[in-house]
Amino acid sequence: MHPFTGIQVTPKGVEYLASYVDTVRSIVGYDVAIAADHFGHIALDSCIRIGKALEPFTLAWIEDLIPWQFTDQWRQLTEAVAVPTCTGEDIYLTEGFKPLLDAGAIRVVHPDPATSGGIAETKRLGDYAQERGVAMALHLAASPVATMACVHLAAATENFLALEHHAADVPFWSELVTGLPRPLIQDGFITVPDAPGLGFGDINEELFREHLDQRDPVFFAETGHWDGETAHDRLWS
Ligand SMILES: [Mg+2]
Repeated sequence: MHPFTGIQVTPKGVEYLASYVDTVRSIVGYDVAIAADHFGHIALDSCIRIGKALEPFTLAWIEDLIPWQFTDQWRQLTEAVAVPTCTGEDIYLTEGFKPLLDAGAIRVVHPDPATSGGIAETKRLGDYAQERGVAMALHLAASPVATMACVHLAAATENFLALEHHAADVPFWSELVTGLPRPLIQDGFITVPDAPGLGFGDINEELFREHLDQRDPVFFAETGHWDGETAHDRLWS
């Protein structure tokens, strides 16, 4: 885990990261929120130095700098830098999030509703975070099915910030379900549908079958499929 690697960031590295963010900010301006993730397996002191260097760019949040299990290190990071801190994509159930929220250790809580416990449990977590003054962003890398579950969940909470999305460059993504606007995401927003259930008509099974991962082309595998080493169900990021 990060604190045990001995890896540190040099002043040159900190300067490089800051100039990278500076370039992105200067291109997109301040009408587009920017968040930053994947800082590497570095320990708290390097995280603080990077966080301070990123303060001038008013990021929406910095994410997963430290494994989520280290509540007190998250609190120290949050207190040391004037950039909102965020973690949660690997945490299961509201119970798992409570130590961070009760300690005031993060500014943004980041559950993945597909693995944090589903719609009702993540709504419960969102409300718990709201009572402690913490915003909620939803982690997600999924088809429109789980995305629409997140849309309803987000619409039902008051502290929702943003919903993650990894398919901006996948042209057929919106067509994986029927009965919703295409593209599903317009100007960065998804309209909450009025239809029953998750709000779409049906799944486009043929299109799903056409685009199965060819390394392992299984359509609705047995759940035991996720028990092996390749499941990549990480415990921390
Ligand atoms: Mg992440």
